[in-house]
Amino acid sequence: MMDLSTAVERLGAALTAEYELTLKTIEAGHSGDLGAPIQARIDDLFLTEDGWDGDAPFSAFQTSLRPPTTVAFQAKALKKLGQRTLFKAERYAAEDVGGIARLYVSEPKKNQAATPFFALDLALVGGDPKIVATHELCGACRGSGLRDGAACDAVDFGGFPCVKGLKFKGGLSFDAGERLESARHAEAAPGWEALMER
Ligand SMILES: [Zn+2]
Repeated sequence: MMDLSTAVERLGAALTAEYELTLKTIEAGHSGDLGAPIQARIDDLFLTEDGWDGDAPFSAFQTSLRPPTTVAFQAKALKKLGQRTLFKAERYAAEDVGGIARLYVSEPKKNQAATPFFALDLALVGGDPKIVATHELCGACRGSGLRDGAACDAVDFGGFPCVKGLKFKGGLSFDAGERLESARHAEAAPGWEALMER
């Protein structure tokens, strides 16, 4: 069972590594060798297809925690860069994968620090916490899954549909099932109350 505090600690460490790696990449003007040890720590958090022998189908991650390979406008990039905000952590039964922690985070941008953007699902795989699925939050319904009292049917530019407030962006496909626990961390901007208060 993936407990919330372990998931928060593990993802928090990866997000700090991501921030440090991006900062080094920008300062150097290219990724070079500077970030390799940190990159390894980030990559290690993502499930690989070979690392999964369960029934839930795996598809390639459409989003990942990775630095840019080149940075054209160093000063501008440094000004924009921020560490991701963790807004809340939820625990779901997700029986196909033995239970998940779903963590809601922002993009790594200072001016988006109060906007939930990703939902990352962590599960225990062989005893280790791994990101097993990635989602982007639907901006149309702000992650609630409802618009004007009906199910949200928004589709983003990439053709990814909103399903209960989330657009699936790779990893394992499974039914999250019942929400068992919910813990708030940072405050989100006004408009995200339905997501934050559930
Ligand atoms: Zn939606």
